[in-house]
Order: sequence, then structure tokens, then C-alpha cells
Amino acid sequence: MSHNLFNTLQSFDLGNGKQGKFYSLPALEAAGVGPISRLPVSVRIVLESVLRNCDGKKVSEANIKELANWKPNEARTAEIPFVVARIVLQDFTGVPLLVDLAAMRTAVAKLGKNPKIIEPLVPVDLVVDHSVQVDFSGAADSMARNLDLEFSRNRERYQFLKWGMQAFDTFKVVPPGIGIVHQVNLEYLAKGVLQSAPGETPAALYYPDTLVGTDSHTTMINGLGIVGWGVGGIEAEAGMLGQPVYFLTPDVVGVHLTGAIREGVTATDLALTVTQLLRKTKVVGKFVEFFGPGAAELPVVDRAMIANMAPEYGATMGFFPIDVECVNYLRATGRSDAHCQLYENYYKAQGLWGIPQPGEIDYSQVVELDLGSVRPSVAGPKRPQDRIELGNLRREFFNAFQRPVAENGFGKSRADFSKVVTLTASGPVHPSGGSQEPVSQQKALAAGTNPVTEREMVQNRPSPEPEPVAVPPLKGKIRHGSVLIAAITSCTNTSNPSVMLAAGLLAKKAVERGLKVSPVVKTSLAPGSRVVTDYLKKTGLTPYLNKLRFNTVGYGCTTCIGNSGPLHPSVEEAVVKNDLVTASVLSGNRNFEARVHQNVKSNFLMSPPLVVAFALAGRVDIDLSCEPLGTGKDGEPVYLADLWPTLQEVRDAMQSALKPEVFRKLYKDFAAQNPKWNEIPASVGNVYEWDANSTYIQEPPFFTDFTMRPGSIRSITGARALGIFGDSVTTDHISPAGAIKKSSPAGKFLGDNGVEFVDFNSYGSRRGNDRIMTRGTFANVRIKNLMLGGEEGGNTLYFGDEVDLGEVGDRDLLVSFGDSAGEKMSIYDAAMKYQASGTPLIILAGQEYGTGSSRDWAAKGTNLLGVKVVVAQSFERIHRSNLVGMGVLPLQFKEGASALALKLDGTEVYDVVGLDANLKPQQDLTLKITRKDGSVENIAVACRIDTPIEIDYYQHGGILPYVLRQLVAKA
Ligand code: SF4
Repeated sequence: MSHNLFNTLQSFDLGNGKQGKFYSLPALEAAGVGPISRLPVSVRIVLESVLRNCDGKKVSEANIKELANWKPNEARTAEIPFVVARIVLQDFTGVPLLVDLAAMRTAVAKLGKNPKIIEPLVPVDLVVDHSVQVDFSGAADSMARNLDLEFSRNRERYQFLKWGMQAFDTFKVVPPGIGIVHQVNLEYLAKGVLQSAPGETPAALYYPDTLVGTDSHTTMINGLGIVGWGVGGIEAEAGMLGQPVYFLTPDVVGVHLTGAIREGVTATDLALTVTQLLRKTKVVGKFVEFFGPGAAELPVVDRAMIANMAPEYGATMGFFPIDVECVNYLRATGRSDAHCQLYENYYKAQGLWGIPQPGEIDYSQVVELDLGSVRPSVAGPKRPQDRIELGNLRREFFNAFQRPVAENGFGKSRADFSKVVTLTASGPVHPSGGSQEPVSQQKALAAGTNPVTEREMVQNRPSPEPEPVAVPPLKGKIRHGSVLIAAITSCTNTSNPSVMLAAGLLAKKAVERGLKVSPVVKTSLAPGSRVVTDYLKKTGLTPYLNKLRFNTVGYGCTTCIGNSGPLHPSVEEAVVKNDLVTASVLSGNRNFEARVHQNVKSNFLMSPPLVVAFALAGRVDIDLSCEPLGTGKDGEPVYLADLWPTLQEVRDAMQSALKPEVFRKLYKDFAAQNPKWNEIPASVGNVYEWDANSTYIQEPPFFTDFTMRPGSIRSITGARALGIFGDSVTTDHISPAGAIKKSSPAGKFLGDNGVEFVDFNSYGSRRGNDRIMTRGTFANVRIKNLMLGGEEGGNTLYFGDEVDLGEVGDRDLLVSFGDSAGEKMSIYDAAMKYQASGTPLIILAGQEYGTGSSRDWAAKGTNLLGVKVVVAQSFERIHRSNLVGMGVLPLQFKEGASALALKLDGTEVYDVVGLDANLKPQQDLTLKITRKDGSVENIAVACRIDTPIEIDYYQHGGILPYVLRQLVAKA
């Protein structure tokens, strides 16, 4: 449906002699609606969507006027209905999303309606990238073997995706082995400008490419001037089904970039520097927009790296406006000349062409960064914002080694630092006297590769039962600070040819000097697209990387998402037995505890060439600015400076390597290039036939007993604490993606259902099965429940089921606290016991609750455990909205209040008072705390249901029941 509000429906020159239509922002300004040309570019692009989609219902004229009059600094109360042009998914989040869509179709069919009313209204692209694991590495056939395993492990999920492809008209899948979602988005999916579909009115309407994705790092596309960010799967589903994505009008922080990067510094160093700077600036929940001469000079691939790390600095987006660099990138990556021309013409017609210069835009705040001040850096050992200048790493590692755990350290003593463990030829002695490797492994191990047995195929999982066979000869020494994993990984870096070629050039010089990587270091190269392989090959650098065992292990997230695979058992045992603080070095964007590998405690983010350098050095307690990283074949020490490629060397390599036709060739006909994908049979039909025996795909209970009538908002009484957590609890702590422990509730469930330990796969791959994911919620081995004194692991104290406030009433409050000492058990078991007695549950947490990757299972699992309320000191943006989207109430402690300050230990009973049909966004509510001695304390908390639409979602029990009721009502 078209409109011509404010006479904004205008024409522009497509560059091919024809005219196209567009909703003109200059025309909107000319109509006196607002000072639009002073608005941040990112806000103007959202405004275009609001203008174009104005229908008087979901999007109103008032929304247009409000946003057109955005003020840099004012109280943010207005919510923006943002209709995005498309949606991207990765497989870990995409499969559960498809499961929900399938479940909605089942629910609609049960109501006797046409299941096809559940259909994505915008294009949806799912890239299968998160499943591949580094089981095999360091050998020529590593990739093929990892891919084989990936298909055998994930066959059921892939079958289900193929069902989705045929059931939904607008749902497309980029199969495994092609690349990583954000790199594929940048190099292929993104168009920059989109055109209305045939038959839509007005015809030939052009509009900006905008999107949301079910992955935090969707922001990478901001580097190409495209507005988009990560949302939970739940929000994405609603977006697909015609709901706007609602968000509060943001503050926009302008980052004024000046100067230029110096010799010896990489774009990764810049991204880490920006991350640290913006974390300190406190940009959580804000848009960040880069401007100034420094921004204009950066190529799109550098911008994309900075944009990629927006979740690490906490911003909703890290946006670079549109300019000639964008069109150059589109052209260089194979987009047609005609498209590039219309792209340029469109943004010029919109007045959105060019990186703004100082004074042109009104930002909420301006931060300065001179690119010339950026130094070679790494970040770690536990958080991406903890940047360390390269020359300080040795000292910083040693400091962290001795710092208390509570202060983000490792709590070790100085004396402990000198401990060295020698891996003998016989490896760790196993109780049976044998090795953990069967004979089939030994040849490969002897050859210096890092293979695993069939039994060792699951990422990070504990070693299985021993076998009485001889021990493979892996020689070496390990100590605190030893590098055990060196991974060139992550779309953050693999999308940028300059750092990838720098890694190859450094490898070449290292090989020429005769340097080698110790076999205890597990090395891997996982490009985010096959284009990388092409240019490394064309530049002749592949053999050098291979020589250092940086063989390609697959095209996917691998180590970046924690799929680093098992270490050699001898190494792993030495680490665990001696409690060594060893290291991983990776070109990823996250290094939270237990993300990269459960037994590798310190994790440093860095550029790909530094990954190679640290692999060669074999340790992180080294100052590479003055200590040699090895000894050359001539017996002379080799320093980093001897190997580091110059900017000119990198530029020369890039010139000869990047060709548009390569992108065109590699990004077409995926299925034809992927026989394994073609071999997978797909079921057909509009409604999925659930297999009750599947341990991967199950119908979730979200729509069981679905009726058209929503519930009502009521106070919560008699809630028990399921967990009390400290600061920075990540979504990975809440809903881990990695290994499933045999002894965990999920592991026991799988075992009881006849799944062998070798086939457990990871939580991430089991997100289509709510039975496993609910059991996995709060099951991260590193989560610390303060109810148990901060003990690690997913346990809690269960206080019996005798709380019954309802019958007794408020005045004569009489509460049985059950066993006042509490019974220790798994969080899942306690939750089920509480559920059986109808006891609502509460989670208490510190700052930044739900930080980390967007993960809707962190909210879904919370809901399915029976948690009704989460009270935290602050919330990560996406997780807060996911909690609301699942009908869980987020409450925020007032300044100065916390579980710690209130001395809460989980023995209390909680009520949330003031919840009723008149609930308003962000209003204050009362948390009533009844302690075990009967004393009562009432504290004010802020309701973090932030927007009016979220009140509706909450009332309906979540966003999905809300959307389903709307769709069924219309059908
Ligand atoms: S490589 Fe890392 S950042 Fe990129 S999509 Fe995968 S997990 Fe996310």
C-alpha cells in the first residue's frame, strides 16, 4: 500500500535512463516536518523506514514527526516502530526459530485455520556456519573430515532446514561449507538498496537495505552503511511475521576519527582500541556513528571490523555512513555496475552520500580518536574490552595470574609461575595403564597433526573411558602462559583481506627463517568465505600457512563460537591435573571464560598475523617488541619485527588478489557446489511432522493449550530464588552453547534416551529440542551461584515446597521455609520440584545481566524453568527484551541496591507488588522480601518492560502468543 504523505513520494534517476520511486527525506524536510539534514545518518535511515511504512496503524504519522524531530539530548521515552527490509539468521539461532514457526503452524492447524498464515513477510536468509567444529586440524584433509563430521552430527537439523526451505516461500538457506553469516552478508547478501517486489505498489520503489539478525554481530553490516543489529530469535520471528521491531529512540554517540593508521598497526588493533574506548564511554543501548576524515579514509573492510564489535562495546550499532568506499566495495565484491550506479544515485538523492564532517550533524555526544594513536594490541584474558598494548602483555599476564579471581584474575601465587610440565613420550599415565587414544589416532598424532578419535569428536567434551593402547608420542613442555590454541577465526577478521594476507605474509617469512610451531599448539584457519582461500592461494601464501599447520579446517565460526574441538588428551590432562593457566590466541571477538575451551583459562583476541606470531612463540608471557619469538635455522634469534609485513607488502598482495569475478563465481549455485547438502532428504508439506523420538527437533510447549484469550497481569507472590548471581553473567552462562557434560541433567536425559556420549553434540546444535535446552539452562560449568557461596556449576539450594502465602494472606503472613539449610541439587531439578508445587521462581543478579551473544534460549530456558522474574542491577539490551518476549518480568534494582547489599542468600521468599492491568513501561514496582526470620523489607525496583508494546507482549505471555493471536484473528 503506497501513500504520498508530505509529498515525499518522489522520483530519482536510476542511472540507466529510467526513473525509480523513493520516499524522499529531503522532501520531508522541505515540508517542514523536522531538521532532518542535521540528524545522524543512521537515524535518517530508520526515519525513511518509518515514513515509507506509515499505515496509520502499526506506524503512524506521529511516529514520523517524533523521529524527524529527534533531539540529541532528551529523555528517551518514545519507541520507534522499525520495519526492516530483511532478516538474517545463523543456524544455532535459526533452527529454533524455524522450530517456533513450525510449532505456530501446528497450533494454527489445530485451530482449524490455514497454516500458511504463518509465513515470513520479508526475505529471510539463514547461513549454516555455527555447527562446524575443529575436530581435525593441522593436516591437509582436516577440512574434509570436519565437514564429514558436521554433516553426520547435524543431519537431522539440516533435514529440518530443508523442510523449512520448501514450506516457507521466503526462507532461503546458505548450506554448510560456504562461509560465516556476517561475511556472507557483507560479500553477497547485502544489496545496499532494495527494490519493491513485482506487483507491489508503488512499482519500482527503492529503499535502503535494512535488517535485523539473530546474532549480535549482525552489526558488522553497519560498516557498509546498512542499518541493522542483532535481536533475539523471538523478536526476529515477530519481525518476520509483520511486526515492526520496536526500540526506544536512541542517543547517538558520534566518534570523530582523525589521522591514519601507522605502519605496524592493523585494523584489528583499531577495532580493539575502539572497543575499549567506547566501553569506557558507556554506549550501551546507544547508536554509535563514525564520522570525520579518519572515517572517510577507512576501507569498508576496516569499518566492518569496527562495526562487528559493537556488541563488545555495548552499542546497538557501530554505524559508518554511506560514501564512495561503500560503492567501491560493492563493485569489488561482484555486484553489477548497474546496481552500483543506482545505489550511488539513490543515496545522493536522499542527501545521505558521504561521511559527515565535524559540525554537520548533531550528535548526543562526540568522542575523539586519532587513528595515529592506535598501537599493536591484544585483548584479554577474559574480556574483549580489556585491551593490552602488545609490549605490555607479558607483564599483564603475570599480573592477572596473581590477581584474585574476584578481580578477574587467576588467583595463583608467584611461586607457582615457574611450574613446568613435560609431556613425556608416554603421555599422561592413565589408570588403566593405557592411553586415551585408540590405535587409529596414533599415526596421525605421530605425524604431528591434531586429529581426534571418533570418541573425541565432540567439542571440549571430557575424555571418554580409556582404552588399553599405547600412548601417542606428543613431546613438549607446558606451563602457565603456554599457547594451546592458535586460531585464525571469526568473521570479524576473516572478512578483511589486509589482516588475512598479513598473516600469510608473516607465515611465509617465518617458514623462510626456519621457524616451526610446537605440536602442543592446536592451530587452525577457518575463513568466513571461500574468497579468502582463493586469494591466499593466488598470492602463493597457502603453503606457508599449511607448513605452520594453519591448514583450513572449515568455513564457519569454529573457535569464535567455542567450537575449538578437543585438545590432545595428553595436553588436556596435563592442564587439568596441574591446574595450568594456559592460553588461546584467536582473531575472534569474544573471550569470556570457558567460551573458547573449557580448560583454557586465558584467552587473547588479536589480529591474524599476531595469532601466527604467538603460535610460533608458544607462550603469551612474552614481550614480542623485544624478545625473540624463536630461533631461525641459522641459529639467530628471530624477532616479530623481522617477520612483520609492511603496509606496502600487504597492499601489493591485495591488489593482485581481489577480483569481482571470484565473488560472482563463488556466490552462486550453492547447492550444486555442495553434494553433501544435496544428499540430505527433505520432508515435504506445510505442517511439520514432529518425530517424538528425535533428540534434535521437538515441538516446543509454547503453544500447548493455546487459546485466543490472553492472560492478565497480576502480582507475583511466594517466589523462591533459583539462583543469585554476580556481575557480567553472560547468555553463555545462562544457556551454554558448548559441550554437554555426561553428568549434567541434559547429559543424563540424552543418555536415558539412548544417545551415546560420542553423539551428544553441543547445546548450540540441540536448540531445536526444548527438553535438552531447559535442562541446560544455567548449566554452564563456570556459572557461580552465590546461594552456594559462589561455587561453580549449575547447582542451587532447594528450600522445600511448603511456601503458601496465598491462603494465609498478607497480614498474618506465615511462611514455612522448608528445610532452612536447603538441599543442594541441580538448578533444573530444583526448578522442576518448585514447578510441581506451583512455586514461582526468581533470579537475582548483578550488573550487565545477559551480556554476550544474543541467545533467545537464555530467555526461553529461563521461562521453561518456571522463572517469573529476574531482578538485576542492569541488563544487556537484547537479553532484557528477550525476557519480556518470553513473558518473564525484568526488574532493575535502584542505584545502590543489590542482592549483595541487601544480604540476600536465597532463603527468602519474594513478592512483586503492584503488577496489574495498569502497568506502565518503566514504572516503579515493589519487591517485597520476607526473610526466614519473618522480617519483611520492601524495596522499590524499576520495571524494565520498556515500551507500551512490551506491556502487550508481557500480558499475552510473550511475543509469540501475541503475534499468533493477531494472525489468527485476521485469518
Ligand atoms: S564468526 Fe564469531 S562473530 Fe562471526 S558469526 Fe560466527 S560466532 Fe558470530
